[in-house]
Amino acid sequence: MADVLVYVLHYEGAFNKNSLGAVSEGAARAADVGGACDAVVVGGEDLTDELCGTLGAYGARKVFRANGPEGLAQPVVDVMAKVIADHGHSYAIFGGGLLGFEIGAGLAARCRAGVTMEVTSVRADGDELVAERPILGDSQISVSRYRGGLGIIIGRINAFELRESGSAAAAVEDVEVAFSPWSTRATMVTRGEQRGADVDIEGADILVAGGRGLGNADGFQLMEQLAGAFGANTAVAATRAVVDAGWYPYAAQIGQTGKTVAPKLYLAAGISGAIQHKVGMQSSENIVAINKDANAPIFEFSDLGIVGDLNKIVPKLTDAIRARKGS
Ligand SMILES: Cc1cc2nc3c(=O)[nH]c(=O)nc-3n(C[C@H](O)[C@H](O)[C@H](O)COP(=O)(O)OP(=O)(O)OC[C@H]3O[C@@H](n4cnc5c(N)ncnc54)[C@H](O)[C@@H]3O)c2cc1C
Repeated sequence: MADVLVYVLHYEGAFNKNSLGAVSEGAARAADVGGACDAVVVGGEDLTDELCGTLGAYGARKVFRANGPEGLAQPVVDVMAKVIADHGHSYAIFGGGLLGFEIGAGLAARCRAGVTMEVTSVRADGDELVAERPILGDSQISVSRYRGGLGIIIGRINAFELRESGSAAAAVEDVEVAFSPWSTRATMVTRGEQRGADVDIEGADILVAGGRGLGNADGFQLMEQLAGAFGANTAVAATRAVVDAGWYPYAAQIGQTGKTVAPKLYLAAGISGAIQHKVGMQSSENIVAINKDANAPIFEFSDLGIVGDLNKIVPKLTDAIRARKGS
């Protein structure tokens, strides 16, 4: 029997979608190895019994609730280390994101446990769980097994599907934790807003999407100018490669681990057309691709393909649209 503990992040009275996916995954995999999945939440008064109980719908048996600062890693490490020491969970699962990475790494150091990051799949092998993560530019899969009493699994953002599997409210248990001196040194001053997070990618009629062919983060200015020329109902989208590189926010990512869209026009510049990107945009009414490689896979499912250097084509296209619109 191996129980799983999942950290669940919340903000303004709602649980984070990635965390709920992690609970769903934790519950399903714990069941595979004859165990149960519990959740940990850390925060203030907005973590009501009712809100915490809703985690039961995703398969959580019990929710361990600690009163502490929200959105900071070290206090959560303190809480999870105590819960694991008291209850003997065999695995800790995180939904991903920067906070998940930081807590997972801190917990691994504290508990001297093995940790695997960027996990895209977890499966049972006999009575233990193994984690799979893509490596070498996503061309190979590496499999992690854990020695010792605790294995830590940190998912890629959106890798774990959110599934409602239970109907009963989860039991809620308050945890008293003496925070480590260093855990309370940092305080949350403000929460930053991501550039582009307010753009309604899924509702836009026109998406101009940029990929690694843009060369660097500044390359996205070309796409933003193009979107500006198209005007209303247009947004900039991105591939995972550029989101991972920090060139553009995750809110704009299209594909298997991002958003699924179906705009009237999807204009892709410097995007190869990997299957994981294609699944998020293939239902677009019209697909136009600009790529300097005539053999790029994206041309196989484009309505119009333009072979050439985007640095020359996109500015001309922007000018042409502006001229047409008289702006
Ligand atoms: C589990 C998993 C989930 C994934 N989820 C996603 C996802 O949600 N979304 C996603 O997008 N990817 C996802 N990926 C990654 C995906 O496999 C690709 O690595 C990624 O889509 C490639 O992004 P890209 O097209 O920007 O970069 P590349 O594949 O590097 O392509 C860059 C393209 O730009 C072209 N180019 C270069 N310079 C120029 C120029 N000057 N002018 C014109 N063209 C130029 C090149 O010819 C090339 O075709 C996932 C992978 C895995 C394993």
